[in-house]
Amino acid sequence: MEVLKENGLQWIDGDQIRTSRVFAIVSACDAVARPMLKDSTQFNGKYGCDWCLHPGERVAKGNGFVNIYPHEEPLAETRHPQQWEDDAIQASQDGSSVRGVKGVSPLLFLPFFNIISGFVPEYMHAVLLGVVRQFMTLWFDSSYHCKPWYIGTRKDILNSRLLSIRPPKEITQVMESLETVAIPLSLLKAKCVFIKIRAKQYVIPIVNTVETD
Ligand SMILES: [Zn+2]
Repeated sequence: MEVLKENGLQWIDGDQIRTSRVFAIVSACDAVARPMLKDSTQFNGKYGCDWCLHPGERVAKGNGFVNIYPHEEPLAETRHPQQWEDDAIQASQDGSSVRGVKGVSPLLFLPFFNIISGFVPEYMHAVLLGVVRQFMTLWFDSSYHCKPWYIGTRKDILNSRLLSIRPPKEITQVMESLETVAIPLSLLKAKCVFIKIRAKQYVIPIVNTVETD
């Protein structure tokens, strides 16, 4: 990366030779891979948030425990690259984690790479398997049938509207019914997950319409 930063690479643009310098500025990776690259605590451990210094809380769930990050006022302090670097050096000297940072990641040496904002919340786990699945469960899981937000009794309307959507030709996936998208996403291969979310993206406006009918 140093060579690419200093010398760049040459490429042909019509009849001209151009030189472009290259920098790595964003890393989009799986939530499980992220702490490996950063040499830090995983999201389910103390100080497992990559973007702030919220320590998290350990609560019982199912047969085990999970780390949650309840909203708090004032908000937890945002992490900064210099602070991360200091914690990383401290951790490597002490041999123990400092605020979730376990050691010095090679990414700290990448030119112009920001170890905090250079990583982005990961779409598949945070959005598809996180927020989307949570909403789908709240809306359609019959265990919530007494709750005001439960709309599982209107699945027929939702399905007919969902299946009547004709997306533009750029979207090649076909619309699917709620029964299909309710398959546990964790069991689906990555490609299928993207197909399902296409359908889910249309669910929210549809549900709003049904609610106000
Ligand atoms: Zn956070």
